[in-house]
Amino acid sequence: MTTTAILSALAEEQQGLLELLQQPQKTSHAGRDFWQGRLHGQPVVLALSRIGKVAAATTSVALVERFKVGRIVFTGVAGGLGDGVCVGDMVVASGFVQHDLDVSPLFPRYEVPLYGQARFDCDKALTAQLLRAGRAGLASLALPAKTLLHHGLMASGDRFVSGADEARSLRSALRHGGHEALAVEMEGAAVAQVCFDYGIPFAAVRTISDRADDTAHVDFSVFVKDVASLYAQAIIRELMKLL
Ligand code: SAH
Repeated sequence: MTTTAILSALAEEQQGLLELLQQPQKTSHAGRDFWQGRLHGQPVVLALSRIGKVAAATTSVALVERFKVGRIVFTGVAGGLGDGVCVGDMVVASGFVQHDLDVSPLFPRYEVPLYGQARFDCDKALTAQLLRAGRAGLASLALPAKTLLHHGLMASGDRFVSGADEARSLRSALRHGGHEALAVEMEGAAVAQVCFDYGIPFAAVRTISDRADDTAHVDFSVFVKDVASLYAQAIIRELMKLL
């Protein structure tokens, strides 16, 4: 059976999953705690990516090299960038771009040097399962009918985007480069690149905690505590049934 890694960025996001973990076994490695066990019968490793691209890459490499996971799924929160991507909605990623990567004029803006590409796509099959799990998870939470599940590109960078102007210019610069991002966060593109390097499937879902605008820091803190963990629990439960 393939072991699935489930990554969260923050402890609050991971809490609900840890409560469900059967036969938990903790290993400390590379300054991080990795929790092996089973979720609904599936072998899993739960880990915190930690915040930012480098930290997330370190965690991902450890999951592959040391814990031999065969796929990585990220659940977390993100700022909404796209029109109609509201707080409480969910976004399942189709792929990732690094919004703060710029090696122009040597390479086109956003392109990762030596890869010849800016975007790293998520695994199609795993993403389809995550979309199904997201729909079922949302339904099980009995949320307001206006809660939407979006599917599209996410942008990652080492910056908490917390200004309406900043969010707007980030979005239009990305659009100028041909990337229409629905949400912004700080880890996904790094995990996607590591999974690309190792040839293992990756999928990601983020709940929108804020609109990356001037109230982002307030919205974010409230949301992460009260909602993110519940969402992650519901989606992962549904995903485990589909694997
Ligand atoms: N308050 C936290 C720090 C959170 S950083 C602490 O003290 O530990 C924000 C986290 O949420 C990152 O993991 C990022 O991926 C995600 N995120 C949510 N909203 C974001 C936004 N507007 N811009 C960038 N990242 C965001």
